[in-house]
Amino acid sequence: MSLIVQKYGGTSVGSPDRIKNVASRVAKWHGEKHHIVVVVSAMSGVTDGLIKIAREISPEPTEREMDVLLATGEQTTIALLAIALNQIGVPACSFTGAQAGIVTDGVHTKARIKNITPKKIHDALEGGQVVIIAGFQGETADGRITTLGRGGSDLSAIAIAAALKADVCQIYTDVDGVYTTDPRIVPEASKIAELSYDEMLEMASLGSKVMQSRSVEFAKKFGVVFEVRSSLNDTSGTIVKEETGNMEKVVVRGVSLEKNQAKVTLSGVPDQPGVAVKVFKALADDNINVDMIIQNVSSSRVTDISFTINKDDIAKTRRAIEPVIGVIRAAGFTAQEGVAKISVVGIGMRSHGGVAAAMFEALSGAGINIQMISTSEIKISVVVDESVAVDGVKAIHSKFHLEC
Ligand code: ADP
Ligand code: ASP
Ligand code: MG
Repeated sequence: MSLIVQKYGGTSVGSPDRIKNVASRVAKWHGEKHHIVVVVSAMSGVTDGLIKIAREISPEPTEREMDVLLATGEQTTIALLAIALNQIGVPACSFTGAQAGIVTDGVHTKARIKNITPKKIHDALEGGQVVIIAGFQGETADGRITTLGRGGSDLSAIAIAAALKADVCQIYTDVDGVYTTDPRIVPEASKIAELSYDEMLEMASLGSKVMQSRSVEFAKKFGVVFEVRSSLNDTSGTIVKEETGNMEKVVVRGVSLEKNQAKVTLSGVPDQPGVAVKVFKALADDNINVDMIIQNVSSSRVTDISFTINKDDIAKTRRAIEPVIGVIRAAGFTAQEGVAKISVVGIGMRSHGGVAAAMFEALSGAGINIQMISTSEIKISVVVDESVAVDGVKAIHSKFHLEC
């Protein structure tokens, strides 16, 4: 008898019919005598809807209360799925994150899982029940409700699979696997059969939101092999696991696009020790994620520093940086919206050259100007104008012959 953890995302539980569909799929696995633990997201649109209501009441609600609010989305789904399973004669019981023993740190809205005590889960499984757990949430040791960052039900599923030492971890979503790029943007994208944790991690953190990046980090750390597949058909999906020698043969595995970026520039910054630390420490203290950082070559001991952030963090960044501007005696601060980041990812890049040149050639062929560039061992990212980003993705995707 195997222990299977399945996660169903928002679209897969987005209506009563979809919930019934999930129930009948779970019933099938349960009927085959497997132990089944199901992790669910809020119904599609619910989390966004709750955020919108809170912002109508207050422009900056406290993060503690946002967690209490957002956790209700997943709590609704666990009960509905348990009701749907019971209705078709399958014994099932639902647990919130806290009831399932998921303990997190106290960083509201992006808490980290510290440990899981799965006693109640084991007891329910032993009793023949399907166990349904609310994704995206946990509880601090002192009893505060927390959430795990957007897309965090993926993390719940992977962490529960690790804690239970599950035999199989399946992430069910609205596409039937991880594609070479978002198939909604490039319909010619092809499904990837197998990919390494590092590639999935880069793709996820560079904008391919099919998996939450923190969940992939966790899977890598604890060696949880998982499959991304569709909740609407039975075709096999994409297996994500430790890399194998074979995987290096593919130079570019996928192309990711991250919209909603902003480019921040501090101009006229004195080129002397201690400046960068003051800027980036202020941002880190406010939990602002900074991505690409570029410092220009200085002439006359003054330089410009540019970096990218999520556009939603502009106001927070301005607040964090303004006091620093005076201290470091910078000339000015600008934040430019309307930029996007395109990245190519592949572990094969370690052993193959020429990838950057081919990528830049594709962009130049499409008449697209590159504003910033950053590279690592297995990825190359560029910042471009958001209005031409999709054309850029298409040009690069085709340049590397990734279509099916
Ligand atoms: P869920 O609600 O199931 O968690 P998400 O919306 O978070 O689903 O993730 C699935 C979506 O991810 C797909 O609908 C697709 O548009 C998007 N996506 C982005 N990049 C990729 C990719 N490379 N492969 C597959 N899907 C991708
Ligand atoms: N409901 C949460 C979100 O929309 C978590 C998730 O779906 O994974 O981000
Ligand atoms: Mg998701």
